[in-house]
Amino acid sequence: MNQLLRQDLNQVDAFLQEVKDYSVAFLSKIDALPVKAASADFERLELPRKGMGARNTLLQFSERYGQHLAGNSGARNWGFVTGGATVPAIAGDWLTAVFDMNAADKDTAPLQIETETIAMLRQLFGLPEAFSGCFVTGATMANFAGLAIARQWLGIQLGVDVAQEGMAALANAKIVSCTPHSSTIKSLAMLGFGRNAIVKLSSLPEREAIDIAVLENYLKTRKGEPLIVVASAGTVNTVDFDDLAAIARLKSEYGFWLHIDAAFGAFATCVPEYRHLLSGWEAADSITIDAHKWLNVPYDAAMIFTRHPQLQLDTFKNAGAAYLGDPAKDFKYSNYTPENSRRLRALPAWYSLMAYGADGYADIVHNNIELARQLGELIQAHDAFRLLAPVRLCVVCFTLNVADAEKQAATDALLKALDDSGKVMMTSTVYQGVPAIRAAFVNWRTTENDLAMVWEEIKQQTAALTVK
Ligand SMILES: *Cc1c(COP(=O)(O)O)cnc(C)c1O
Repeated sequence: MNQLLRQDLNQVDAFLQEVKDYSVAFLSKIDALPVKAASADFERLELPRKGMGARNTLLQFSERYGQHLAGNSGARNWGFVTGGATVPAIAGDWLTAVFDMNAADKDTAPLQIETETIAMLRQLFGLPEAFSGCFVTGATMANFAGLAIARQWLGIQLGVDVAQEGMAALANAKIVSCTPHSSTIKSLAMLGFGRNAIVKLSSLPEREAIDIAVLENYLKTRKGEPLIVVASAGTVNTVDFDDLAAIARLKSEYGFWLHIDAAFGAFATCVPEYRHLLSGWEAADSITIDAHKWLNVPYDAAMIFTRHPQLQLDTFKNAGAAYLGDPAKDFKYSNYTPENSRRLRALPAWYSLMAYGADGYADIVHNNIELARQLGELIQAHDAFRLLAPVRLCVVCFTLNVADAEKQAATDALLKALDDSGKVMMTSTVYQGVPAIRAAFVNWRTTENDLAMVWEEIKQQTAALTVK
């Protein structure tokens, strides 16, 4: 054995203690770190001829990158929809690497853990048992997998096994949606439908939710033609929800495949007052839910739920590889997901779900929604700002009350000032043609103190803008 490998093997205990201390030091100051990572541009290191061993590598890392680490998973990252990582979730992730078991095998603890975690998640979200689920790397991959299964179904409606024969029969397939996430469009590109296969139908006035009458008219004109409908359960700008119960009724009449992107909106089911937003979703054929957002586990994890395990197997099975066994006989997750060898991605979720249970998640979600509503109220009551949509769940979408021609520059300047303050990060968007700012609350750490601190900062920075 190489001498450094031998040395590190003999010092596992001391070294991992140091890594633990380094981790704890980081986590204990996470909310004091700038939220947005400073741009970093280093001269690249060369591959060392002789390595430096584990301990010196940690020192080297800390010297080189230690000052450039941001509080990305801290309490005041309100950009995009960025979850944090609960303490047990971090432990689960660490242990995933320690065990380094392949979650592709049959009959093993990883398979059991994933199946058990999926069942707990079904309970958390109140999804019927008819849904099976798998872990994938993110909601993009969940949308990809859901739409891949949908593609298989679409082929079957036309008498073609797409997984065997390819896309030729689906050249004119249409995927209908209103406000799809960009990852749905990306998935269409990856799946061979092409980005242009999306048909974007109009929303209700002043909304991001689909106009059901428009959808029904579209379905009438396409009667008899197999279609995929992608519904949103939580849009990123304003967390708008398509009327899933109405879409479910149309599905029973027109028979399309219903995929629901509930990446973070699914968590509304954790709190009784918001559960109605998802009512009807059990009619879906496939559902995307992210884990590294509101479940607060580290990157990268999400789930694809579906009621069509056979179509899923037909899509993702490893066929004809004797050494991998018979996909029809031995249940393995690797025959149901894009990945073959698989990290035990369920373990961080398992730890966090066991640690906090349904009540813990209800508290996280409820707390985040309350904070979003409070920020919404503050913004609405202040003349420097304009709330662009009601706060439906965990995102506040607003703009500055300046002349239209100045809105873009002003919102950019405010966001930059807030980034530079290090106290908070939010992201820019354009909502119904208006340059805007979004603040998303999906982190377990965020408290009223954070909101108060940020609100002061927003007011000050905004006042400083108008002086200029
Ligand atoms: C974040 C998000 C995605 C993409 O998720 P990743 O985890 O970044 O792959 C898809 N849909 C919605 C609604 C999202 O919010």
